[in-house]
Amino acid sequence: MASTRRYYLWNIGCQMNQADARRVAEELESRGYAATTTPERADLLLLNTCVVRQSAQDKVQGRLSSLRPLKEGSRERALAVMGCFVGDIEALRRDYSYVDAFFRPSDLEGLAAWLDRWEVEHRWGLVGGEPSTAPQVAEMVPVSYGCDHRCTYCIVALRRGAQRSRPIDEIVGDVEALVARGAREVTLLGQNVDAYGLDLDNGASLAAVLRAVHAVDGLWRVRFLTSHPREMSPELIDTVAELPRVCPSWELAVQSGDDDVLRRMARGYTVARFNDLVQRIRVATPDGSINTDVIVGFPGESEAQFENSMRLVRETRFDLVHIAAYSPRPGTVSATWPDDVPPDEKERRRLAIEALQEQIAGEINSQLLGQTVEVLVDGRQRGRWRGRTRTNKLVFFASDDDWLGRMALVRLEWTGPWSMLGQVLGPAPGYAG
Ligand code: SF4
Repeated sequence: MASTRRYYLWNIGCQMNQADARRVAEELESRGYAATTTPERADLLLLNTCVVRQSAQDKVQGRLSSLRPLKEGSRERALAVMGCFVGDIEALRRDYSYVDAFFRPSDLEGLAAWLDRWEVEHRWGLVGGEPSTAPQVAEMVPVSYGCDHRCTYCIVALRRGAQRSRPIDEIVGDVEALVARGAREVTLLGQNVDAYGLDLDNGASLAAVLRAVHAVDGLWRVRFLTSHPREMSPELIDTVAELPRVCPSWELAVQSGDDDVLRRMARGYTVARFNDLVQRIRVATPDGSINTDVIVGFPGESEAQFENSMRLVRETRFDLVHIAAYSPRPGTVSATWPDDVPPDEKERRRLAIEALQEQIAGEINSQLLGQTVEVLVDGRQRGRWRGRTRTNKLVFFASDDDWLGRMALVRLEWTGPWSMLGQVLGPAPGYAG
């Protein structure tokens, strides 16, 4: 009898990639493969890749090089690459002739069809392995793939193609299955999640998805990301405010605080439009949190334009800012422009926003000191239980009881910019299980 095949899955990148990796693992385990963290023990090596920045691309190329001897040492071992690294497949086949297959981002069907063939060709007789995917408290569910925008710096939209929204009943089916396996929170994912449904002709919107998912029995929390200021609608804001299980933790990517830079990024909104949205969000969900993304050192970004981003961060007072120093990605429009902000200057701008944001986040979080918050516990870290508030803030507490997957009431006794510590008071009322 053949032994169980093992797979080694290496994943980097955004939440969409994490969700894809999870689905790939489920596909493989439903076929009887067992996971291994040791590439030498694996029959199938699979890399789920990201090229959003040069550093990510370097990691992928490094990983491919390091796995090459393993692949070439065994004809029976397969090596496949999926994700945003996979652009021009013909060129990749030439450059990485030792790789057996390439799949575009989220192309699970392609992977499954290739596995069907590979297993037959290589007589990979599988015995039924026990799925080893541990139930997770907080899960991610893609609601749409791809993006119809063409932000001039973005490689993701080029690699992931046009937007394809999934039917609502399929999304709800996924959520029900995850809840049945123990999930209590789902994050609905789209490159531009607010544009959900624009490619369908049935009038479906993200607000409708939220309503449908909100009705799933046993689900405690729903989140969604990433929001685009161009498509965010008043209907969506009202829906979040109205549905108690939808967390008011907004991920609204601004990218720059300067209108000219936004125009050259082809973002399709102005700073005034963004500020107006923030205003509406804060009126509708006063206890919510707003996170954003900012790029510094975009081609042609002057000192004054950078200062406009600083001002936006200072005045908006975000809960969290994901800051990236611009790096040109081949194939994008902005890569044809001079990358004229020197690396040292990009780093100075990145650190300046980081320091400003650290101070702001510290101040915002310190207002929670002494308050009691609901924390959905999703794991343990350094001897403490770890979970998140409705506003997606990280909270730790010590307890000898088993809190995994439960909703705890925690009184906050220490707050910092990135996390908080508290004392558990007991289970939060109103959450069964
Ligand atoms: S909205 Fe812009 S940055 Fe976001 S995925 Fe689409 S093209 Fe890329």
